Amino acid sequence: MYANVIVDITHEQLDRVFQYLIPASMHVEAGNQVLVPFGRRNRKIRGYVIECTDEAQWDPNKIKEILEVFPSSMTVETQLIQLAAWMKHRYGATMIQALKTVLPVQRTVKQIEKKYYILKEEQAAQAALEEAKRKKWKARIRLLEALLETKVIPTDLALQRLQVTGVVAKPLEAKGILSIVTETAYRNPVHSMTLNHNTIQLNDQQEQIVHSICNAFDSGNRIPSYIYGITGSGKTEVYMGIIEHVLKKNRQTIVLIPEIALTYQMVMRFYQRFGNQISIMNSRLSAGEKFDQMERARKGEVNVMIGPRSALFTPFQKLGLIIIDEEHEAAYKSEYSPKYHARETAIERARLCDGIVVMGSATPSIEAYYRAQQGVYRLYQLNKRAVNQSRLADVSIVDLREELKLGNRSIFSRELTQRMEQCLEKKEQILLFLNRRGYSGFISCRSCGKPIGCPHCDVSLTAHKNGWLVCHYCGYSIPIPAKCPSCGSAYIAGFGLGTQKVEALTAQQFPKARLLRMDLDTTSKKNGHQEILEQFAAGEADILIGTQMIVKGHDFPNVTLVGILAADMSLYAGDYRSAERTFQLLTQAAGRAGRGEKKGHVVIQTYSPDNYSILAAKDQNYEWFYDQEILYRTMLHYPPKGYMAELLVTSDEENEAENAIHCYAALIQNEYNDTIKIIGPANASVGKIKDRYRKVLYLKSTNEILLIQAKDRIEQYYHKTVPNSKLRIQFDFY
Ligand code: ADP
Ligand code: ZN
Ligand code: ZN
Repeated sequence: MYANVIVDITHEQLDRVFQYLIPASMHVEAGNQVLVPFGRRNRKIRGYVIECTDEAQWDPNKIKEILEVFPSSMTVETQLIQLAAWMKHRYGATMIQALKTVLPVQRTVKQIEKKYYILKEEQAAQAALEEAKRKKWKARIRLLEALLETKVIPTDLALQRLQVTGVVAKPLEAKGILSIVTETAYRNPVHSMTLNHNTIQLNDQQEQIVHSICNAFDSGNRIPSYIYGITGSGKTEVYMGIIEHVLKKNRQTIVLIPEIALTYQMVMRFYQRFGNQISIMNSRLSAGEKFDQMERARKGEVNVMIGPRSALFTPFQKLGLIIIDEEHEAAYKSEYSPKYHARETAIERARLCDGIVVMGSATPSIEAYYRAQQGVYRLYQLNKRAVNQSRLADVSIVDLREELKLGNRSIFSRELTQRMEQCLEKKEQILLFLNRRGYSGFISCRSCGKPIGCPHCDVSLTAHKNGWLVCHYCGYSIPIPAKCPSCGSAYIAGFGLGTQKVEALTAQQFPKARLLRMDLDTTSKKNGHQEILEQFAAGEADILIGTQMIVKGHDFPNVTLVGILAADMSLYAGDYRSAERTFQLLTQAAGRAGRGEKKGHVVIQTYSPDNYSILAAKDQNYEWFYDQEILYRTMLHYPPKGYMAELLVTSDEENEAENAIHCYAALIQNEYNDTIKIIGPANASVGKIKDRYRKVLYLKSTNEILLIQAKDRIEQYYHKTVPNSKLRIQFDFY
């Protein structure tokens, strides 16, 4: 046996793998630290084993032997290499791809500096504010008011949002009212800010959950916990209670939050509780800044890392807790190979470091809730709002087929139009939500509302540019029909509605209303997302139009109406998860109305008023939705009642890809005839990207382990037959 060893644990050096012979008496596995002779003079150095193999890459007589293995040295690097090995095995990828996912990119940082105004003397500031008001110093009033509220303001934000320059701040600094502090960009100025020690008193439900999970942590019970709690029920407070306990035990925490939910308010809550022990990661940091943060974590300078999916690989030496907030979010699944899911990967990482995983959501993924029902996770519930019993909004459903029958071709139903007018009159705010998730060009009938579906897979067909409708699961395809196959109506169409179009139509119908639009176009510049939300929160517009981006994050107390223009878009997205995604989106969108004192209303416009995901969202009834959905998954053997793997083969040569995919199909057919069902082969939904042809094969089984074995077989076969061709394979499990 040979061991592939890397001697330098950085992302850039991963391609420099050295092979060593494993002496017969020695036991070595991936992740082990070893002592090896290196270079011409056989200098003794330490390295990490990334893979064991029986294939020699060089002349076997020239391969040197490993001198020593340190099996007990469980460094964080060892854990991360073991995690990479697990990801490679579980999801299918090369070891190098897996390692590149878990190890940070090393870049030297050009220290970026950031300045802050920090409030020093509250009473003096109050007095200065009075004075400024008397003398009508407008800029000074703005600065002091903002500082009294938030205590800390980054200078660039003060300049952009408050039009306050250094000239305004300097005299206040001289008087000792505020200080101007410079920090490197990734640090936060909180050490100069008073921490919020009188934390919120948890209610009984919250208290019990914190207590139970902390007890489990102390007693070595490692079953993952799931907190199913409605929005606003105080999950974040529960997380913070558990983090505090874990920190006291000298262990560290990773908190995963979808980037879109990582708002200023959220971050501030964590800062105020944990101060400088916190570090925040987001995709806007440069590679250097990220590396720097990772280094601080490795050295133990911070103990809580908050960030999106990739924060899972923070190299904490004493990791004890991983929290996954909004567990249902699609962003937790990586779209790059290895196509890992953060939920499963977090559980594996926690196992390696003897830590625990705590997940939470108001709309748990079907997989996770199923596991909780099965006892694989411990389920906790928070079923009331934490503050002043704010009421849920009323929801009405409008049948768009009826509107069409009555000759209303506008994108606004009569009910929505009327409610919008009332709302504008009362000077209250409106959210218009355009459901474009999963929008990939399905075709449906505007008379009977039925989409054109696949007869084999119970998902909708997707329209391709060449005028054909294609099933993404089995490759079934037909030309776009001229008439609805269900009712014969000629009124069939795709939903070609975009946010810009909606904005134009809204302006036409409500000429006096002030509009804001939020989509990828308007948020692409740095902080665009946050700015639009702030403008809207500040009442600078009456109507905010947007995609799923608008349903998360901010609270808008003055929003009393949410209009969901076409709830169906995500319902027929050609994906077995479409009902689940629709339910989640509608529930979240509905949760936006009536956050304040005023009662809210939600209008859901749909072509499928009887669909269970829409009915369940109307009543905000997760359990009922789950019961229906799990039945459907059981019948069709979709996850979690069955597993699927996608094999993607790509090549510059179409027939090479075609031959290979048929070979693999035959291989699986021969060896797993009874246990794995094969769907395809077929062209991928995008059949060619950058001149590479793409063919897919779907494997379905009730046994996940078998699918992973089948993947191993295909990989073996691939390595034997095509090591040097342009052919590539890639797996995706779901
Ligand atoms: P979730 O994460 O479940 O949406 P949060 O933790 O954000 O809920 O709580 C919602 C709001 O309720 C926050 O403003 C929070 O400060 C407040 N809150 C949470 N728990 C309590 C409590 N026990 N007492 C008072 N307010 C609370
Ligand atoms: Zn029809
Ligand atoms: Zn199909």
